[in-house]
Amino acid sequence: MPQLKYQRPTGTHDLYPGAERWVDDSDRRAALVETFRHLCRVYGYGEIRTPVFEATDLFTRSIGEGTDIVSKEMYTFTTKGGDSLTLRPESTAPVLRAFVENGLHARGGVTKLFYVATHFRYERPTKGRYRQHEQLGVEALGSDDPALDAEVIELALAFYRRIGISELTLKLNSVGSALSRAAYLTALKAHVEPHLGEFSEEGRARFAHNPLRMLDTKNARELEILRAAPALTEYLSDEERAHFETLCRYLQDAGVPYDLDPYLVRGFDYYTKTAFEIQAPSIQTAQNALGGGGRYNRLVSEIGGPNTPGIGFGLGIERTLLVLQEIGADMPPAPGPVAFLVTQGERARPVGVRILAELRASGISADTAYGASSMKAQLRAADRARARYAVILGDDEVAQDVVQLKSLTGGWQHAVPVAEIAEWLSGGRAPS
Ligand code: AMP
Repeated sequence: MPQLKYQRPTGTHDLYPGAERWVDDSDRRAALVETFRHLCRVYGYGEIRTPVFEATDLFTRSIGEGTDIVSKEMYTFTTKGGDSLTLRPESTAPVLRAFVENGLHARGGVTKLFYVATHFRYERPTKGRYRQHEQLGVEALGSDDPALDAEVIELALAFYRRIGISELTLKLNSVGSALSRAAYLTALKAHVEPHLGEFSEEGRARFAHNPLRMLDTKNARELEILRAAPALTEYLSDEERAHFETLCRYLQDAGVPYDLDPYLVRGFDYYTKTAFEIQAPSIQTAQNALGGGGRYNRLVSEIGGPNTPGIGFGLGIERTLLVLQEIGADMPPAPGPVAFLVTQGERARPVGVRILAELRASGISADTAYGASSMKAQLRAADRARARYAVILGDDEVAQDVVQLKSLTGGWQHAVPVAEIAEWLSGGRAPS
């Protein structure tokens, strides 16, 4: 292939219909989004959409200065007016900002929101990890009830079940509160300190500035040392422990299996109490977390709103598509048009163009080949488009006010009056 003049930026995707790799396929992606939207509505969640960029501060304060996202991965720029803005690397902070700014908290009760959002992180791209990715997420604000935690987790799992991914692991932990974590971090540091020489420079920096983030490491030796450390769950307050136990009971009652993982902290500083991650064992990449989430009972007040507990999750669309393709899920591409107009001769073309418009007006998907070409080439185009019927029109048909309706799958052909085509195609009059 000759050198391309322009290429898409590293770590991004072009999405188009019928792509071989599902992660590039706009139709299959749209089908996932549609399933998610529908399910969210079943659970009582309404859609929220926020800007693609936000004040940089919103992210640094909420996600936390010591996290990978804030320290290395944000797309931050200064506007001509001198403001620092950042392309959103996640959606929880923006959704909560919008919740506060638009006074949604004043409605009282629990506010249940879902989003479909593009996120940007300057990461080293590999399979399942990109610089632009999309997440399906929810945020439920206004209650600390563990039943809400269970609902949010069940919603995520119901989504995966519905799209055909049932082999999943739910990792579950409670990360307590800032208060209970303080005692834990003291113990963690005391455990790590004698081994600090074996830690990487980054690990040592985390030890000094944000010790919880040491648990994010992928370094095998560091993990070994950390896994011998006391677990966060041992430091929970009675109330936090009770909250977690109640959540576990709800999940058991609902028949949702989970794995307790006392070292699961996830990459954000804002979590309190519940933290969870959904992993797909089938995915052939190091990035096997399909999604994750947790509770953030301090975050709304930290960004300037009234004290409001909340919980949410974000599920990665690209990794979900990778898994679906890997397991050979039944997810056909979008179907082709019902009808494909094929014309022969100059008189037939304008009549055909009118029929095309009428079919579309009655809600029947219809297409045609553009530019002059033979009948044979037009029928080939109809096959390529995966159309179900060809609507064939020549001079004779125009004279008689009929078309030849030809099944492209069933091998039959009928002369049908123009006024009855739509009825044939939508009313089931056509033999299949
Ligand atoms: P997080 O926002 O980090 O909790 O991630 C939630 C989910 O979003 C992950 O489990 C992934 O499925 C997806 N995700 C996060 N970062 C990326 C990325 N850089 N590329 C693709 N998917 C991502």
